[in-house]
Order: sequence, then structure tokens, then C-alpha cells
Amino acid sequence: MRKGAPISLWDTSAEEPDYSSPMNGDVVTDLAVVGGGFTGLSTALHAAQRGIECHLLEARHIGYGGSGRNVGLVNAGLWLPPQDVRAKLGEARGAALIELLGAAPAYVFSLIDRYQIRCEATRNGTIHAAHSPRGYDDLARRAEEWRRLGAPVELLSRQEAAEKIGSSAFYGGLLDRRAGIINPMGYVRGLARAALAEGATITTGATATGLRREDTKWIVETDRGTVTAKSVVLGTNAYSDDLWPGLKDIFTEIHFFQLATEPLGDRASGILSGGQGLWDTGLIMFSLRRDAFGRLIIGSMGKAIGGTAGLSRRWAARTLRRLFPKLGDVKFEAAWHGPIALTPDHLPRIFRLDERLYTPIGYNGRGITPGTVFGKAMAELLSGGREADLPLAITDVKPAWGRVLMSRLYQSVFTANQLAKSF
Ligand SMILES: Cc1cc2nc3c(=O)[nH]c(=O)nc-3n(C[C@H](O)[C@H](O)[C@H](O)COP(=O)(O)OP(=O)(O)OC[C@H]3O[C@@H](n4cnc5c(N)ncnc54)[C@H](O)[C@@H]3O)c2cc1C
Repeated sequence: MRKGAPISLWDTSAEEPDYSSPMNGDVVTDLAVVGGGFTGLSTALHAAQRGIECHLLEARHIGYGGSGRNVGLVNAGLWLPPQDVRAKLGEARGAALIELLGAAPAYVFSLIDRYQIRCEATRNGTIHAAHSPRGYDDLARRAEEWRRLGAPVELLSRQEAAEKIGSSAFYGGLLDRRAGIINPMGYVRGLARAALAEGATITTGATATGLRREDTKWIVETDRGTVTAKSVVLGTNAYSDDLWPGLKDIFTEIHFFQLATEPLGDRASGILSGGQGLWDTGLIMFSLRRDAFGRLIIGSMGKAIGGTAGLSRRWAARTLRRLFPKLGDVKFEAAWHGPIALTPDHLPRIFRLDERLYTPIGYNGRGITPGTVFGKAMAELLSGGREADLPLAITDVKPAWGRVLMSRLYQSVFTANQLAKSF
């Protein structure tokens, strides 16, 4: 039995069982992976599929990081519209990344099918909802570009959005039929089960505390023994610690919180009745979805303050009342938050930290699809692939300017937003 309180609703509601296995002496392997989230487990799964011997280390438990706390929106592309990604990365690189991430939800759902992962998977799309007329113009620009690229996206009028969302509060929306929703803890535990079935080894409750090179090998030190490997992949994203000095300085940490209602039965049947997940165009964005048990899960940027009885609960109750006046009072069962790794240009990175030591990082709050496909790319690289074929060019590690100050500033603004919207 695992010690400690659940980290999210998903931690208790996921059908896939938790997997834990303590470190048992020193290990020698081909590939050491640090971090038991989407990135680490996808790397381990795809490496094991290719016959690479692999050992994954997780400091706490599977899905302890962002992977077990997120909203569960399996989105296509990045936060930035495709045209902005191309402008930042260059035409060829940008277009290739957009194509890869445009197809990534299909890949995630294909893994769910192949390994029969029990994660409440619903593939009816996601809705990006316009919180203002300007937000709608932004969605129109995104829709035009995605359609030009052949993606099945629909720009919803105000009326169409109201029908799908069950609220007339939005100015329209962008329905992306490539996307869907999952129970993220179910998915990450399912990836662990799949990786084990393919022959990977996983150790939980073991923190990697040191990384050193001896001849051609890496030695990963843990508080419980060592892992000696030819290659190492770090999948620690926003949870990066001091294992590789300077790594956590490349992003600004911001938080996202969520609250889950009790199962609402017929009362909420008109809300997102098509099973889509939603987020809005607001600068301080909010998210809303249902789970398989009829709960509503609502979130926004910042920390969950006061659990299910404090400020964040008041914000959630007030926001639901504003959006769905007929819903009436609801009880909340769970409240949680987690950190997001925000990079200065809102693009993820792949770093080669040293010879045969890599890390995909900086997902900017969108990691289900990138974590899965970047993990696969790591496995392809380490089984004879070329760095030139990675989804992103390898870049230098550069600290994000003013990250500590910015992180505090964001947190104050997000708390003020909760306060202002809780009356
Ligand atoms: C509240 C929230 C909502 C989000 N919503 C969405 C969403 O709807 N859709 C989406 O696509 N993305 C979303 N994201 C982003 C997404 O969850 C992350 O990008 C993704 O989980 C990153 O996966 P990862 O495997 O790279 O890292 P993580 O899942 O964060 O895993 C890192 C792991 O590394 C372990 N670790 C760290 N250091 C060490 C060490 N030294 N030794 C051993 N283990 C170590 C940690 O314990 C942790 O388990 C959200 C994030 C948050 C926080």
C-alpha cells in the first residue's frame, strides 16, 4: 500500500492500478530513464519495444508529477498557433513539428487501444472557447491555418458553442476533432504496465541524486543503489531538481489547479454533453471537463488555495454558477495543483546535456502528446537514429531570465484573479 495522500482526483479514480517496486541493489543496463511520467515511460516503452534494455527510476510513484495531475486534454499541436511555431522554428522544422504534434493525439489513442489502457478515453475532440470577441478572432485565425493544413477543425458560432458547452457565456469556439480527453493517471499507469510488458524495469521511490561518467558509461546514483547505463534520458520536466545543475533554471514555474465536484448525474448532463474537454482563450485561462462518473472538473492557473473548503472552492463554485446558472449548488470532492514548466518562447526543448545524455523538457502545460511522441523519438535516437531526425533541433541550455521573480509575480496575479472572481 502506498503512503501519503492522493495527489489528485485521478489518483483515486483511475482504473489502472498503481505499480510500485523498490530498488533492489545495483543495476547494469543499456538505458537509464529518470522520471515516471509520460516522457520517461514513453521513452522506456519504445526503447523496450526496440529491444533496448532499460531501467526507469521514479523518485515518488508513477504519475507523481504533472502526468498524474493534469486536465487530461489530449490536444493536437502546441499552445502557439501553427504559423507562430513556423515563424519561431523556421519553415521546415516548424512544419515538421506541427505535423508530428497534429497527428500525436491519434498516436496516443493508438497506444491506449494497443495496450488496452483503462483511462476513460473519449475521442470526441476538445473545444477552445472564446472568452471575448478578440478571443474569437484569434480562434478564427487558428482555424483558418489548421484547415489549410487539412486538420478537421470547426469554428463554432456563439450558438453552436452554447449548444455544445451548455452555456451561453462564450463568443464561439474551435472544435478540434483530432483531440480528446483521458484520465491522465490511468494513461500514465497504463504506459508503465505496457513498458513492463515489453521488458523494461521500473523502480519507484528511488531519487536519482547524482550523475557521473566513468569511461563510456553513465552512473546514476540513487539513495538506494546505482544504475550503470550507456545512455540516460531525463523525463523530469517541471519536477527537475538539482540532478543536472542548471536544468530547472531553463523554465519559469507556474501552477495550475483543479477542483472536482461529486458525481452530478442528470443535473450536469447538458454540460459538455458531447464529451469534449474545454479551455478558454482568457489570458488566465480556465479549463472544464467531465469524467466518466459525471463529475465536473474545473481548473485555472495558480495554486489550489484552501483545498475543497477555501478560496479556490469559492472561485470554482462562483464560476460554475456564472456559466451554468441552472446547475445549483455543488459539492467538491477533490482539489489539487501542479507546476508547469513555462519557457520564454512557449516552445518545448530537447537538450543533449552531455554525450548520450538527453532531456525533452519545457512543455508549457501541454505534455500528454509531446511527452508521448518525444519519448518515442528518444528511443528511436538511442536505437541508431540521428539527432537531425529529432522533432526539435538540439539547443543550448539557457536560463530563463528572472524566473524566480516571475514565478512569484505570476502566483500573486493568479491568486488575485481567484479572489476577484470568487464573489
Ligand atoms: C495541473 C496541470 C494541468 C495540465 N493539463 C494538461 C492537459 O490537459 N493536457 C496536456 O497535454 N498537458 C497538461 N499539463 C502538462 C502535462 O501534465 C506535463 O507537461 C506532463 O505531465 C509532463 O510529463 P513528464 O513525464 O515530462 O513529467 P512529469 O509527469 O512531471 O514527471 C516527472 C517525474 O520525474 C520525477 N523526478 C524528478 N526528479 C527526479 C529524480 N531526481 N529522481 C527520480 N525521479 C525524479 C518526479 O517525481 C515526476 O514523477 C498539465 C500540467 C499540470 C500541472
